[in-house]
Amino acid sequence: MGAEITSLRTHDVRFPTSRDLDGSDAMNADPDYSAAYVVIGTDAGLEGHGFAFTIGRGNDVQTAAIRALEPYVVGLALDEALADLGGVWKRMVHDSQLRWLGPEKGVMHMAVSAVVNALWDLRAKREGKPVWKLLADLTPEQIVELVDFRYLTDALTPGEALEILRRAEPGRARREAELRATGYPAYTTSPGWLGYDDDKLRGLCEQAVADGFGQIKLKVGGDLDDDIRRLRIAREAVGPGVRIAVDANQRWDVGTAIDWVRALAEFDPWWVEEPTSPDDVLGHATIARAIAPVRVATGEHVQNRVVFKQMLQAGSLSYLQLDAARVAGVNENVAILLLAAKFGVPVCPHAGGVGLCELVQHLSMFDYVAVSGSKEDRVIEYVDHLHEHFADPVVVRDGHYVAPTAPGFGAAMLPRTLADHAYPDGPVWATSENGSGA
Ligand SMILES: [Mg+2]
Repeated sequence: MGAEITSLRTHDVRFPTSRDLDGSDAMNADPDYSAAYVVIGTDAGLEGHGFAFTIGRGNDVQTAAIRALEPYVVGLALDEALADLGGVWKRMVHDSQLRWLGPEKGVMHMAVSAVVNALWDLRAKREGKPVWKLLADLTPEQIVELVDFRYLTDALTPGEALEILRRAEPGRARREAELRATGYPAYTTSPGWLGYDDDKLRGLCEQAVADGFGQIKLKVGGDLDDDIRRLRIAREAVGPGVRIAVDANQRWDVGTAIDWVRALAEFDPWWVEEPTSPDDVLGHATIARAIAPVRVATGEHVQNRVVFKQMLQAGSLSYLQLDAARVAGVNENVAILLLAAKFGVPVCPHAGGVGLCELVQHLSMFDYVAVSGSKEDRVIEYVDHLHEHFADPVVVRDGHYVAPTAPGFGAAMLPRTLADHAYPDGPVWATSENGSGA
């Protein structure tokens, strides 16, 4: 008998980040970074780890949604399942009853993401490779098989996807060597949380430049006068040569976004991120036309590949910010990378959260080696929080992500973290009056 998947365990893990206002922005004033965490067990001595990221309350709902997927995983023959993750993906996403909860959006879709990513973690460990390398070693045909092209073929057919991947094939080895030597460019959001005072902002901006980052990001959208003051401080601190992106976290209506960004134009913002509702495809396009040459970036709350398709078709964004754990995991993100390549739009992944840096680096590195073949104008977000809780934390050096070498997806949290931060009974929460459940 071959090995089987034998268990699916979940953990409600929360970090009390709201105590220091890490992660605070115009819409999310007091996030407690959290993971609805899943461990897929096998009788082969391997586990796969994945999670959906939330910011506190509701993490229990997210965890329950992951548990609802147990029947799709437990009992599967391990190697057959891992060899057909495109098929496993489709069976979960298109479950005729669970699909009603979306379709392909929200809590249930994020639950699929956690499980799919855990299966990729498992497959990468089984093959002894980091996920980026595992993906980059697949043939163009195998990569295309990972993708569900339903709803995409008016913008991207399987044949076109194959063409994109075949075009990139001859340069794979050279780019992989280059990636291992120099890493992948990062930008940092750590200086710009809205809850930080001016001195902390200035100090962290100076630190970012000293650390080698060529781009930083500031949260905006609370109060225009505050934004002008904070951008002036940041621009003085980093100088004219460092890009400053601003992020409104969906705060504005379309007209307000246009006026607000124009009022910040003197500080030369590189992009404005999530200016309005993540569902407003045409609103983003209107904003993009009105604020040019300032660019629009969005994607961390874009529900699925279909909305990304429309945004690319409508000219809604100049930078596509996929998230590792909001759409349904690696497979859907491969579709999104292919769509972005088709439209020639750079992908700059979202990573503000817990563990998202660990995951998205694999997607960007795969993209560089095997899809777009380019690092030009591309950066991965970096936030300097909570990496100490991971078994294989990201390494960022001189403003670049160092290509990971450990087998897996980097999603595994330390056992001690799972115990200490268990909500609501772990020691971090049991002794606290400052709970997520407040
Ligand atoms: Mg953002």
